Amino acid sequence: MKGRPTDMKTAIYPGSFDPVTSGHLNIIRRAANIFDHLIVCVMVNAGKNPLFSLEERVDLIRRVTSDIPNVEVDGSQELLAEYARKRGSCVIVKGLRAGSDFENEFQMALINHKINPTLDTMFLTAEHQYMYLSSSTVKELARYDVDLSDFLPEEIIPDFKERIRNRNLK
Ligand code: ADP
Repeated sequence: MKGRPTDMKTAIYPGSFDPVTSGHLNIIRRAANIFDHLIVCVMVNAGKNPLFSLEERVDLIRRVTSDIPNVEVDGSQELLAEYARKRGSCVIVKGLRAGSDFENEFQMALINHKINPTLDTMFLTAEHQYMYLSSSTVKELARYDVDLSDFLPEEIIPDFKERIRNRNLK
C-alpha cells in the first residue's frame, strides 16, 4: 500500500571517501532528492592505505551533509550486499564519471546483484565540472600549492591540508 512508512525508499551510497570531494557531495545531494532516506556508507578498501581513518571519514561527511535532513552517514567493514540487506535497502547509488568507471562499476553491480538478488545499482552521471575529480587527484594536487576550493567542500579543507602536512613530515 502506498504512503506507509514501510514504503520509504532507502538507498545506499558507498565509497571510500578519502576524503569526501565536491563531486561526492554533488551525488549525495542529488540522490537525497530522489530517495526518502540516503545512507552514505564509508567502506573499507583493503587495497588502499587511507589518509583518514574510517571514523574520521564518517565525521568529515557528517560535517558537510549536516544541512541535508534525510542523509545518514555510517561506516562498515561488511560486504556491501550484506550491509544493504541488514539496512533494508534494495538500491545502491553510484556516481559515474568517465567510461573508465563503467567497466568496474558494471562488474560490481552484477556481483552485488548475484549475492543479493533484491539489490539493484543505479548510476548518476557526474556533473561536467566534477568529471575529472577523484579523491586521489585531490591528494596528488595537495603536494602543490593549488587552491582546493573547486575540489573539496570548504569546511574540510583545513583538516585535509593539516593531514597532508603531517603525513609529509613523517
Ligand atoms: P574515488 O576514490 O575515486 O573518489 P570513491 O570510492 O570514494 O572513489 O567513490 C565513491 C563513489 O563516488 C563511486 O561510485 C565513484 O564513481 C563516485 N564518484 C567519485 N568521484 C566522483 C565525482 N567527481 N563525480 C561523480 N561521482 C563520483
